[in-house]
Amino acid sequence: MAAEPFPPWLTAFTGLTAWPQDNPPYIPLDYVDLATVPNHIAKRELGICDGVERTACSFDCHLCIAFDDIRTCNKISQTFDDGPSPSTPKLLEMLPSKTTFFVQGVNVVRFPEIFREQHRQGHLLASHTWSHPNLASLSNEEIVAQLQWTNWAMNATAGIIPRYFRPPYGAIDNRVRAIVRMLGMQSVLWDRDTFDWKVNAGIKTSPEVVEEVQDWKLQGGGWGLILEHDTTIKTVNVGLDVAKALGPNQLTVAECVGQTQWYQDPARLGNEPRRGHRAASYQRS
Ligand SMILES: [Zn+2]
Repeated sequence: MAAEPFPPWLTAFTGLTAWPQDNPPYIPLDYVDLATVPNHIAKRELGICDGVERTACSFDCHLCIAFDDIRTCNKISQTFDDGPSPSTPKLLEMLPSKTTFFVQGVNVVRFPEIFREQHRQGHLLASHTWSHPNLASLSNEEIVAQLQWTNWAMNATAGIIPRYFRPPYGAIDNRVRAIVRMLGMQSVLWDRDTFDWKVNAGIKTSPEVVEEVQDWKLQGGGWGLILEHDTTIKTVNVGLDVAKALGPNQLTVAECVGQTQWYQDPARLGNEPRRGHRAASYQRS
């Protein structure tokens, strides 16, 4: 499978000629004003929550949800993170419902045909950063880079700019959220975790996951947003077992919250690199 070519418009915009590695460079944009990002929330490592104030509204530390975060769905529905991967096509072949994929930019440009097929089949495609870091540990500039390069990868590959974003590890606070909003996106979390990675590790089985899902379906009026991964054939098989247990007619995240516009308008200022402007003060070093 050939990687997505680096488009000339992105060279014109960034001065680069190839997709970045795991640490993409920050490209200043005239609609991203980092001076407005809350400066009282410190960078932190995963699981280190001592000293994290409640006012930071951390989901990973305190399960805090902001006014515009999406955390559940009015009809219990699956979501799949971390792809696309060589295992994704099996899910595309057999999944009976439209679903939501939170993709990594590095994987979009690595598996562009799979990504375009996801789009062609009408699934909702959303951002999960470029290379899956803990955003709360990064600088403001590094967070922007993780988001902007993913948007460019999705735009170059399938002509879409995501409106929904899920932070890796659920690591989000009001500093990260401010940057997510500046890039025109809304944060999505989850309220039902399958821990399907444990199936990869051999410490959980698919029937155990399905049993939990059956319980969730009966609890809480049938609400829920389920976290899964389309990274290996094992987790894809779990996903298909869960889909069978839930039945068809699940909702995408946009449908969960009644939003009909699934993607950002490319003409919106700055979200379209071909029309946007780099910050005038930017100097390449
Ligand atoms: Zn992830």
